[in-house]
Amino acid sequence: WAAGCIAIILVCISTDSNSAISAITSQTTPSKEAKDASFHLYLFGEDRGVPAHVKADNDWFITYGKWLECFPIEMERASARGLVFERSDGLRVRWRVGTLEAVVGSKRIKLPRTLRVFNDRLHIPLKVLCKLTNTRFIYDAGQNAGYVCAMLTEVQLMPATNGWQLNLRLTAPVTYRIDRLSNPDRIYIDLHDAVINYPPGVLLERHGSIASVRIGQFSTVPATARVVLDMDEPLNYEDRTEFDDNKRATRISLFIEDAKAPQPPIKPSINNIELQVSDRDTVTGIIRVERAYDYTAFTLIEPFRVVLDFRNADFVNPVGVQQIPKNPLVREIRTGMPDIDSERVARVVFELHRPAAFRIIEKRDEGLIIVRIGKGGWYGLVIVIDPGHGGRDPGARSPVGMFKERLIEKDLTLDIALRLNRMLMYAGAKPMLTRTTDCYVSLQDRVAFANAVNARAFVSIHLNAWPKPGGNWGTEVYYYTPQSRPLAEAVHKYLIMLLQRKDNGIRRRRFYVVRRTSIPSVLVEACYINHPEDGRLLQDDEFREKIAKAIFLGLHDYFGVPWNLQLQGEEIVEDVAQHVASDAPTQMQPEGEAPNQQ
Ligand SMILES: [Zn+2]
Repeated sequence: WAAGCIAIILVCISTDSNSAISAITSQTTPSKEAKDASFHLYLFGEDRGVPAHVKADNDWFITYGKWLECFPIEMERASARGLVFERSDGLRVRWRVGTLEAVVGSKRIKLPRTLRVFNDRLHIPLKVLCKLTNTRFIYDAGQNAGYVCAMLTEVQLMPATNGWQLNLRLTAPVTYRIDRLSNPDRIYIDLHDAVINYPPGVLLERHGSIASVRIGQFSTVPATARVVLDMDEPLNYEDRTEFDDNKRATRISLFIEDAKAPQPPIKPSINNIELQVSDRDTVTGIIRVERAYDYTAFTLIEPFRVVLDFRNADFVNPVGVQQIPKNPLVREIRTGMPDIDSERVARVVFELHRPAAFRIIEKRDEGLIIVRIGKGGWYGLVIVIDPGHGGRDPGARSPVGMFKERLIEKDLTLDIALRLNRMLMYAGAKPMLTRTTDCYVSLQDRVAFANAVNARAFVSIHLNAWPKPGGNWGTEVYYYTPQSRPLAEAVHKYLIMLLQRKDNGIRRRRFYVVRRTSIPSVLVEACYINHPEDGRLLQDDEFREKIAKAIFLGLHDYFGVPWNLQLQGEEIVEDVAQHVASDAPTQMQPEGEAPNQQ
């Protein structure tokens, strides 16, 4: 056995490349609005009949409705103004009516058409939606039918005990069929309502008794993508896919028995990963390791993950990707072998639905590493978010002429508050807002509200203004009671870190809302609305998202969710502990090099 001969092959297929079948999706129709009464729609194999729609601009504008549930997205918000949804790869898509672009993650993507309102109802251009959801639209002119299909984006062949594991990943759930053929011996997997987005042909060359792995588009209408394994002899196989109730899956796993596959290594090897759910609040991952090992444990966010990297180790039984259905904490476990600093590590990832506390217990004598994941310290706690001003009280404004449109504090504070609200909700806390619309709320009512709802923290969001426009800029955090100081410090730390504006410090002031609330309370002046650079940044969605995120992370720290985050490039990571020898104490390494993100 040599380290070099383990074969982990990952073929990532670009979702942007063109393929042969895109030719049949193009068509020429003059831009006019009409009904196309014979148009038939098939979504991932399901016949949806003739949907209510308006045909315009060479696309079918479909009304928002139940059919949208078929797409591999999680709808967060849908209104007459637009859509916000999360894609299957975890990226959030923001798409507004009237703008020829969408924001995917933090990237702006130009679109040929956009959301429109016909007869007071939001209509979604079908072909553009496919583009935004990494699915593929195929138009069959003969039948006047549209087919929305999944894309095959990943083909992976990994050694497993006594054989190989073939993993396929798609952008949406599909049904499939696995069978064998002879002369020559081969196994094929037909993926229904799926397309390859890659030139057909051989993807992987010889591995043990597997001569090659090929992909192709078996048919286009209906679309069937085919993956073929050519073999020297008829090998046994076992379908290890975890499919849903409708026998659909986005990840397909096939085990192929092969005596010529690489044998288990002599290096430290991770034999087994087991998950125990003791109750709804705790999940225990048990990792069995043979021989001496050293590892690093750390956390990543977006999505929240607990990661263990075992140096110079191998997996005997790679999990690949194992989803944990219906678990409130852990979404999936996966294993991989990324190169970190040109060294191969065996990586175990616990992907979480929300931040959680975790603890690692080592039982080296028994070769066990126990990862205990529990709910974080703020789960279900009420946190009051107070967007400053509102209604007849606009707050501060940028001077006429500084920007194209005047910036008004009450609008921006509400925008930031709603972003923070979403983050906290997603992370398991219970945020409550003193206002959710542009309305006037007195300071007395804001304080009374915070005291009445049994909140555990109060954050008032404001933007500052200097008497002379442009005279000052940067970030301040205010508090009054001594018990509020730690919260002010935590929020301030992340505002400075993320916004990178001038640090005007943490200040003790007798502001009404921080003085009269009985709970830890802070007032954030994120930056100056009447400063040219601060104001320019405030007009940017991403900057306001950063303000919300900084407050989120401050609260996160304050409530002792043990997720002491640091910035590393664009990713926020924590180097929890570096375990270098079996009896070395756990050391915090705040300045340590953080491992790469998986
Ligand atoms: Zn204010």
